[in-house]
Amino acid sequence: MKIITTPDKRLREKSEKVRVIDDEILKIIADMRKLSLDWEKEHPYELSAAMAAPQMGVNKRIIIIRDDMENKQNASFTALINPEIIKAEGKIRKDYEGCLSVPSLYGMVPRETKVRIKAKLEDGTEVRIKATDELARTLLHEIDHLDGILFIDHIKDVADAFYRMNDKGDLEPVKDYEKEIKNNSKLWGKE
Ligand SMILES: [Zn+2]
Repeated sequence: MKIITTPDKRLREKSEKVRVIDDEILKIIADMRKLSLDWEKEHPYELSAAMAAPQMGVNKRIIIIRDDMENKQNASFTALINPEIIKAEGKIRKDYEGCLSVPSLYGMVPRETKVRIKAKLEDGTEVRIKATDELARTLLHEIDHLDGILFIDHIKDVADAFYRMNDKGDLEPVKDYEKEIKNNSKLWGKE
């Protein structure tokens, strides 16, 4: 198992619902947790906040979310199975987003600041989650993955919207963004 990156077509597929939470599903979740933490070890300036199953080439509706996004020492994640957005509302705000599957590129992505989600936990319990701000953004980003959507698709205003992380961990604007977009529209799997 490994994290797949653009232009892998599996990132652009709609994932199927999980029917039964069996050993296969639990193994997928365990692999996702492991891959997220392995990725983080190789990226000292970044925190692996969340991941969706299609990012390891498994097109099933499963995401994992870091329990504490502020603290790298806390390595626990909550898995959400078949997450559904009940409502996304509130002010639309732009903020930085990056993605394990879109290497080293960051962008200013507009998102709603409040969401209500329903999903199942690993033990089958149905939960409803109300989230705001960063957690809302993360949930929307991850649920997008289950429908083959990447954060870069939401960036309409390309001027000053894209950033790349340098080897010191600082974000620098992508200067020649038009070229970047043009080159990457193929790379990103958007024909
Ligand atoms: Zn992502």
